[in-house]
Amino acid sequence: METIHSLKEMQVRALALKKQGKTIAFVPTMGYLHEGHLSLLREGRKRGDVLVLSIFVNPTQFGPGEDLDAYPRDLDRDSALASEAGTDLLFFPTSEQIYPAGYATSVDVEGLTDTLCGASRPGHFRGVTTVVAKLFGIVQPDLALFGSKDFQQLAVIRRMTEDLNLPVEIVGMPIVREEGGLAMSSRNVNLSAAERSQALCLVGAIAQASNAYGEGERRAEVLIALARQRIEQEPDARIDYLQICNDSTLADVELADNQSVMLLSVRVGKTRLIDNHYLSRPQRDIPFCRFKINTWLSCSG
Ligand code: AMP
Repeated sequence: METIHSLKEMQVRALALKKQGKTIAFVPTMGYLHEGHLSLLREGRKRGDVLVLSIFVNPTQFGPGEDLDAYPRDLDRDSALASEAGTDLLFFPTSEQIYPAGYATSVDVEGLTDTLCGASRPGHFRGVTTVVAKLFGIVQPDLALFGSKDFQQLAVIRRMTEDLNLPVEIVGMPIVREEGGLAMSSRNVNLSAAERSQALCLVGAIAQASNAYGEGERRAEVLIALARQRIEQEPDARIDYLQICNDSTLADVELADNQSVMLLSVRVGKTRLIDNHYLSRPQRDIPFCRFKINTWLSCSG
C-alpha cells in the first residue's frame, strides 16, 4: 500500500490508472477505522482493480460546537488495517489542499437534507456532498462504497451522483455491529463503559419497534412510542430524533410497511450516535449480530 498526501499526485495517478483501463473502487472515510470501514474495503477489493481509501476529517461537515477536535485519529493504526484489507492507495490530504484560500463552491442536495440529521445538524450535508463531489473529482472512481449506517447520507449521495450525472456507481453496504448489537462507529471510542452499555438502547429501541411490527402493529406513532420508552430507560440518553420514514423520500410515514425504516439519533453523554433498521427485516439478518430480537431485548433491557 502506498500513502499519497498530495491532491495533485492522487489525481494524476488516478487518471493514469483510468488510461490503463483499471477500475477504481473508492472508500471515503474520516479514519479511525473499524470493522464497518473494513467491510467496505473488502468489498471494494473484490469489485475494483485498484482500491483507494481516503482519510479526511472534513471540517465543513462539523457544526460549531460539534466534535471536530475530539474526533479520534490514528494514522499508523489505520494504515496497518487498510493495508491488511487490501488497500492499494491511501489518500490522506490536508484541509489546506481540499479547501485552499479562495475556495468558494459547494454542492447542496435539496429536500432529502431538510430532515433527520439535516435538521439537527444544519450545514452538515452541504459539507458531506461538497467533499464527496471533490473526492470523486480527485480519485476518479468507477465505484464508491458507503455504509447504510449513515442511511440518509447514502440517500443524499445517490441523489447527488444521479443529479450531477457523475459516472460513479454508488454501492450501499450493510451496517456492521458489535456483538451486543451497537452499530460500529469511530465515535464509540469516546463512550465510557457505563455509556457503552446505555448505548445499547439504540438497538434495543429498534428491536422493540421491529418486534411490535412483527406482531402486526403498523401505526408509526405506536412503534415510535415503544422505541422511545426503551431509550428513556437510560439516564444519560437524550433523543435527538426518532422517526419512521419512507426509504426513498425520507418522509415520515403514518403506517409502516416494508419500505419503512426506523431512523434514530441519540446522544449518550456527550457522544451522538445514529442507527437505523428496516422494520420489516429480521434482526438476525444483520451481519455481526448473532442475537435474536429477544436476546437483544434482554441484553439491552
Ligand atoms: P466515517 O468515517 O464515519 O465518515 O464513515 C466512512 C464510511 O464508513 C461511511 O460510508 C459510513 O457509512 C461507513 N460506516 C461507518 N460505520 C459503519 C458501520 N458500522 N457499518 C458499515 N459501514 C459503516
